[in-house]
Amino acid sequence: MSGIARVLLEMGYKVSGSDTELSDITKRLESMGGRVFKGHSPSNISKDVEVLVYSSSIVKDNPELEEARRRKIRVIHRAEVLGELFNNKKGIAVTGTHGKTTTTSLISVMLKNSNMDPTVIIGGEVRQFKGNAKLGNGPYLVAEADESDSSFLHLRPLYAVITNIEMEHLDHYKTLDDIKASYRSFVGNLKDGGAVFYNQGDANAKDILKDFHGDSESFGLSQDADIYPIAVKMVGFSTTFKCIYKNKLLGKVTLNIPGMHNVLNALATILIGLGLGLDFNAIASSIKNFEGARRRFQLRYSSGGIMLIDDYAHHPTEIRAVLDTCKNWKNKRLVVIFQPHRYTRTKFLADDFGRCFEGVNKLILTDIYAASEKPIKGVSIKNICDKVKANGIADIAIVDKNDIAEYVIRLKRRGDMIVVLGAGDIKKAADDICEKLERRTLDKKLISELKRSAKGQVRVEEPIAPHTSFRIGGASSIWVEPADIADLKRILMFARTHKIPVFVIGNGTNLLVSDSGFNGMMIHLGSPFFKSVRIKGETVRVGAGFSLPKLIKLCCDKALSGLESLVGIPGTVGGAIYMNAGGSANPIYKNIGEVAASLKVMDYSGKIKRLKGEDVKFGYRRSNLGGYIILEAALKLKKHHKDVLNLSCTQFMAIKREKQVLDMPSAGCIFKNPSNFQFTCGQMIDMLGLKGKRMGGAEISPKHANFIVNKDNATCKDVLALAEFIKKKVKENYNIPLEMEVKVI
Ligand SMILES: Cc1cc2nc3c(=O)[nH]c(=O)nc-3n(C[C@H](O)[C@H](O)[C@H](O)COP(=O)(O)OP(=O)(O)OC[C@H]3O[C@@H](n4cnc5c(N)ncnc54)[C@H](O)[C@@H]3O)c2cc1C
Repeated sequence: MSGIARVLLEMGYKVSGSDTELSDITKRLESMGGRVFKGHSPSNISKDVEVLVYSSSIVKDNPELEEARRRKIRVIHRAEVLGELFNNKKGIAVTGTHGKTTTTSLISVMLKNSNMDPTVIIGGEVRQFKGNAKLGNGPYLVAEADESDSSFLHLRPLYAVITNIEMEHLDHYKTLDDIKASYRSFVGNLKDGGAVFYNQGDANAKDILKDFHGDSESFGLSQDADIYPIAVKMVGFSTTFKCIYKNKLLGKVTLNIPGMHNVLNALATILIGLGLGLDFNAIASSIKNFEGARRRFQLRYSSGGIMLIDDYAHHPTEIRAVLDTCKNWKNKRLVVIFQPHRYTRTKFLADDFGRCFEGVNKLILTDIYAASEKPIKGVSIKNICDKVKANGIADIAIVDKNDIAEYVIRLKRRGDMIVVLGAGDIKKAADDICEKLERRTLDKKLISELKRSAKGQVRVEEPIAPHTSFRIGGASSIWVEPADIADLKRILMFARTHKIPVFVIGNGTNLLVSDSGFNGMMIHLGSPFFKSVRIKGETVRVGAGFSLPKLIKLCCDKALSGLESLVGIPGTVGGAIYMNAGGSANPIYKNIGEVAASLKVMDYSGKIKRLKGEDVKFGYRRSNLGGYIILEAALKLKKHHKDVLNLSCTQFMAIKREKQVLDMPSAGCIFKNPSNFQFTCGQMIDMLGLKGKRMGGAEISPKHANFIVNKDNATCKDVLALAEFIKKKVKENYNIPLEMEVKVI
């Protein structure tokens, strides 16, 4: 669709359109003067629209289609537009089950390099055209001919290439004979003087040409073909072969896209080139310089012994071809990520999918990409998983597509070839893996620079679970403990310059850290500088890294009152002030904000400020200190009898021990209590009978229902799933939307 839109824009038409997601492609169309809407809506069709063009993936009751019909706007399928453009030129159509995009791209580049200025409309992006289409002044139009829904029957080509014919698109065709009948009609539409170039090794292609009376020539790997290769050598991305045409040696071909299937695509290109009267050396030179199409064995990353390949393969034959090509490299492990495309294909080709992953060491599967199809009962990713397992591949995981990148990053090791396969939206996983890998390469350089400039501790890939009371979470890319204020400032500047996200962590007692960890820098004020305490009269100046329980003990011993009710809160002074930690609504309990006389803070640009206590907005488990790192607090306490204070602490601690869960990993109360409601969270959850409810390793504590505890190696995902479940139940039963008290990062 975007290719056609681009050509129409270049021809001077006014073009608008809509897509479920905006992308680089839609952005490019907009930069050319097109208008692209996100999502489908009748209002996207402006008053002056004369024709509405739709693709095969648009459902019949699409709101824009309905609007066009209502307004009696002409509605046509994209293939009819392509047909109109195509049939007015000398059309070169490339069709077949596999290899269309690469072959169309190779031919297009060859025509461009031969100064024939072709018009081009391709299904994938070609690097040399910076896109998937272009309008040319020359007589030829090269296009991919879509056999999937017989729409290629709108085309009347001068030359046609048939790469191969297999059982595919079974949402449209019923049998292989149906498919072949459609191809027969396609070649029957050839213009006078035209020719068909077909794959000699493909029995179906040969079969449909049996009764064809026009000109045809074949390409293949055996000597039966009109053109075939000898002395094929494959090393990495490079393939070389000698080319024999009608028993004559034409010369040597070098191809910089790997795989035997691409040798066939190159041979088809040579036949078209020869048919157009081009010189063999010019053809070979164009093939040599071909840079490949996007998502066709596209190398996305290669460093530190890890390669990442992204490919559009979604049919078992294509997958086999890609995995065969991987053998050009001597990697230790082949890690494959696959997203099936369409329920119908998954259903009809399930057995084939089961067999096509041979040689894979680790297979990561994700849910089927529907491509506008409705789900089919009993058809899911599990079907493929079971079939693959039955074929002897043991290491398989089914992973949510949004979690794939993190999953891969955790398992990757030197010597891995990571291959992302699929025609749906799995490219996003490849993008994310690539970004994370690049980030880590960058990290290594950055870390040495950071280590040189920082005085305090700098650690890489620091596991965060041990730094939290929940004992949950992956690693932080960088962990720093600044030595002093100047060091903290330097570190913040460094993070800012390199656009590294920063998070300040105290004792980690109010945190739930993602299983994938934190992709950035965690700053912990753990050095002695941030743990100093000075007492003058009734004022205590204490560093933000100092432990709150220790401070409470110290103040009681120094006969200073004000913090006793906070006993048993396991945070740092910084974390407690940020959270305004404290007790329940009962007035005998204090929140720490009430005794904060002033704060010394640093903003994220390194500027130090002093804030008066009354200028800080403290609320229930919150403050407005979001833009600051708390460095030191001055607490205003009151003289009292030491023994009374110690007794008070003991009593508060006894209540806490009785009510709260202090002997299991948790982050304290998971939800904030709703204001002005007769029940606390704990009471509501308890009354719903949810105590003891488990999801994975996470459990609602049988002792205190507002505590989720890490019962058995819980993951962040387990805790979040359980929290969501509680929220849903409470909303359904009490109409109260619960808010998390625990910070999730
Ligand atoms: C068993 C148990 C019981 C608990 N009981 C209570 C309770 O009774 N009352 C209560 O209020 N809480 C309670 N908590 C929760 C928790 O202990 C408090 O919220 C505590 O104040 C968090 O401090 P921390 O240092 O662990 O902060 P973290 O958990 O490390 O961080 C919490 C937040 O503070 C920010 N932060 C930390 N340090 C700084 C800093 N120097 N500058 C700026 N921001 C910073 C972090 O970025 C984060 O947003 C309990 C937790 C547990 C595990």
